[in-house]
Amino acid sequence: MREIKLKIAVQKSGRLSEDSIELLKKCGVKFNNGLQGKLRATAENFPLEIFFLRDDDIPEYVADGVSDIGIVGENVVFESGGAVETIEKLDFGKCRLSLAVPKNFPYQALADFGGKRVATSYPNILSKFFRANGVNADIHTISGSVEIAPGIGLADAICDLVSSGSTLFTNGLREVETVMQSEAVLIAHKKLDLEAEKILEKLLFRIKAVKQAKRNKYILLNAPDEKLQEIIALLPGIKSPTVMPLAAGGWSSVHSVINENDFWEIVETLKNKGAQGILVLSIDQMID
Ligand code: ATP
Ligand code: MG
Repeated sequence: MREIKLKIAVQKSGRLSEDSIELLKKCGVKFNNGLQGKLRATAENFPLEIFFLRDDDIPEYVADGVSDIGIVGENVVFESGGAVETIEKLDFGKCRLSLAVPKNFPYQALADFGGKRVATSYPNILSKFFRANGVNADIHTISGSVEIAPGIGLADAICDLVSSGSTLFTNGLREVETVMQSEAVLIAHKKLDLEAEKILEKLLFRIKAVKQAKRNKYILLNAPDEKLQEIIALLPGIKSPTVMPLAAGGWSSVHSVINENDFWEIVETLKNKGAQGILVLSIDQMID
C-alpha cells in the first residue's frame, strides 16, 4: 500500500522561506531543499511532502486541496479571502500592514484619506478597512514596489507591509495608521481526510514544542545557600527549579527554564543576589 503523505506548501524564496524550513527541520523532518529550482521535496523520515511556491499562491492551493496545509503570512490569507482554516500562529514573519503618507502630507486623522489615491498590493484588506472606518478613498492596486508610488506621482499615500519602517523612511514616507498586524501562520484545507488529519496532529504537536522552546531558555547557575530561597523565587521553572548541592560547601547549583522576554531582567537580579557561573542555553524542543 502506498503511504499517505501530508502535503505542505511553503514559500519558495523570500522572507518566510528560511524560517519555514527551519521550523520543519526542528520538528525533526529531514528533507533536501538544497537543489536550485526544485518545486517539491519528500521527507525521508516523516510522511510529508513539501511544495515550494510563491507565497501569494499558497492560500489558494490549500483551499483547493492541492496542498493539505501551508505556511504563509496572515496578510496573504486575509487578502485571499481565506477559504482555509488557520491552525496555529508561528511566531515569525512578524510585520504590520500600515498606511503611510509623504512627509509633507499634513495628516491628522483617517478621514484625511477621503478622496485620496492610495497604492497597495492589499486592495481587499484595505477596502474593508476603509469601509469599516467610513473612508471613501481611491485604491490603486499594484503588485510591488508600492513605496515608490507617491514619489512618481502614482498615488497620494500607500498601504504596505512594514517591519522596521526603514523602507518607508528611505522613501520619504511616514507611517500613520496600522491596518493589521501579521505573522506567519499554519493554514489547513477545510476538510482534510482522516489520514492527513492524523499526520497534521503529529506535526502540530512538534510545532508547538518548537515554538515553546524558542520562547524559553535553560538557565544554570551557582547560588550561595544563604540566598537560595530568594534566587529560587526568581526562577519558577516548568514545575519548580532543580537544586543540587555543589561539592564545595555552602553553594548549590540551580537549573531552571525562563521566558526569553524576562531573561535579561532576571539575570541582572540573579547577579545582584550573588549568583555565579550563570549559563544560559537555548532549548530545541520543550514539551510540558
Ligand atoms: P513571493 O515571491 O513568494 O510572492 P513576496 O515578495 O510576495 O514573495 P516577501 O517579501 O518574501 O513576499 O514576504 C513574504 C511575507 O513575509 C509577507 O507576506 C509578510 O507576511 C512577511 N513579512 C515580514 N516582514 C515583512 C516586511 N518587512 N515586508 C514585507 N513582508 C514581510
Ligand atoms: Mg508574494
